[in-house]
Amino acid sequence: MSNKICILGAGITGLAAGMASGLPVYEAEGFPGGICSSYYLRPYDSKRLHAAPKDEGAYRFEIGGGHWIHGGDPLVLRLIRSLAPVKSYTRESAVYLPHRDLLVPYPIQNHLRYLGYKVATQVLGEMVELAKFNPPVTTMADWLYANFGPTLCELFFAPFHEMYTTGLWRKIAPQDTYKSPVNLSFAIQGAFSEAPSVGYNVNFVYPIGGLDTLAQQMASRCDIRYGKRVAEIDVREKALYFKDGSSTQYKALLSTLPLNRMMEITGLTIEEKPDPFTSVLVINLGAIKGHRCPKEHWVYIPQSRSGFHRVGFYSNVDVSFLPMSARKDRDCVSIYVEKAYPGGQRPKEDEIRTLCNDVVKELQEWGWIREAEVVDPTWIDVAYTWSWPGSNWRRKALQILEEHNIYQVGRFARWVCQGISQSIHDGLMAGAAVKDEKGE
Ligand SMILES: Cc1cc2nc3c(=O)[nH]c(=O)nc-3n(C[C@H](O)[C@H](O)[C@H](O)COP(=O)(O)OP(=O)(O)OC[C@H]3O[C@@H](n4cnc5c(N)ncnc54)[C@H](O)[C@@H]3O)c2cc1C
Repeated sequence: MSNKICILGAGITGLAAGMASGLPVYEAEGFPGGICSSYYLRPYDSKRLHAAPKDEGAYRFEIGGGHWIHGGDPLVLRLIRSLAPVKSYTRESAVYLPHRDLLVPYPIQNHLRYLGYKVATQVLGEMVELAKFNPPVTTMADWLYANFGPTLCELFFAPFHEMYTTGLWRKIAPQDTYKSPVNLSFAIQGAFSEAPSVGYNVNFVYPIGGLDTLAQQMASRCDIRYGKRVAEIDVREKALYFKDGSSTQYKALLSTLPLNRMMEITGLTIEEKPDPFTSVLVINLGAIKGHRCPKEHWVYIPQSRSGFHRVGFYSNVDVSFLPMSARKDRDCVSIYVEKAYPGGQRPKEDEIRTLCNDVVKELQEWGWIREAEVVDPTWIDVAYTWSWPGSNWRRKALQILEEHNIYQVGRFARWVCQGISQSIHDGLMAGAAVKDEKGE
């Protein structure tokens, strides 16, 4: 019997656990950082570079789209700053209503004056009425209608959530309600004048040298075995089997792999319907800037012909995302476009190619970009995790894994929605908890 504790996955959570414990980290890919990894593409070149070229002639993108570090424990932020110096930013985000060609600052419910007097008063009337009752809420759709009323839901929340959750919002339990902040006083204020900025990401930081500098610094303090994709776990023999044919024994595991995938890999079963999830195709784009390109950091989209629900502008956050030649005049833009899919239903390669062309065409029609210099799609298999109302699947899945000495750590592993800083926090805590149990 091995005495060894292993960490699975060298994303930001596994890196934090590896740093805090010194235990071996097994990572499927050849680089650290998971979906927070940055990579670089030169204009008109399709070869991904995992480090910035010396001449700085490339766009910087991230595997999972723009990853901005918001909130978080002060000590985690202190650690991040000590590993990779950061710059601070104030959020600029909006909702774009294409049929009105209108950008409304986020959150739309606190900027009703942009929608005109008639709509604003109608929405406010509905919100005031709803605030008097406590309508029953089972699903995310119920929650949105109960808080924002039919007019604002039909204008934005319904079509947006239809795309963002791939239709699940009518069936899943409400969650992450902080993403759509409810405050009637601010809604009334915002119908006439400026309301205070609200939400979980009003301020954020980002490493000056790119998010990869943080991942690299963390990785340099870890013992990582790259190219080790866990294919199967024998929970009785306590053995890890890797895709490359090798295997190793363990005493316990800290796993950062998604909860559903861990249930498959271990072959453990529970009598519960698994909770749903959605995947996201992120299309990273470098392009000549269009004459109507928004100045926002990211924009939520309730309607698009190609089905994307959010467009982020890396280079509106920081010019360092552009190739050096474009930084002075800012005549180029680097963008991430997100389109959600039902969990695991990855489109075929030719469908992805067609979608990329359609997205570029649509953004060109909106005047946001001109010629695209790079178009590079990435796939996040488990991106957003949801729960059926009253579901026990998550709790029971975590419990059966724990009974086999497998501890799930981080966002996808614990089936929760959380950012980088919370994932680092969880990884540090998990690593510290087992650090003195190093063995052979
Ligand atoms: C679309 C999107 C946008 C987001 N934007 C933000 C943001 O702006 N700010 C923010 O703070 N947070 C954001 N997040 C959340 C953030 O991405 C997560 O909190 C964080 O990346 C979690 O890191 P992780 O290490 O737990 O997971 P991952 O990054 O998924 O790491 C898991 C690691 O395990 C490896 N792995 C997978 N399978 C195997 C296997 N079988 N064997 C071995 N290794 C394996 C993977 O290669 C990967 O390196 C966003 C998330 C999504 C989905």
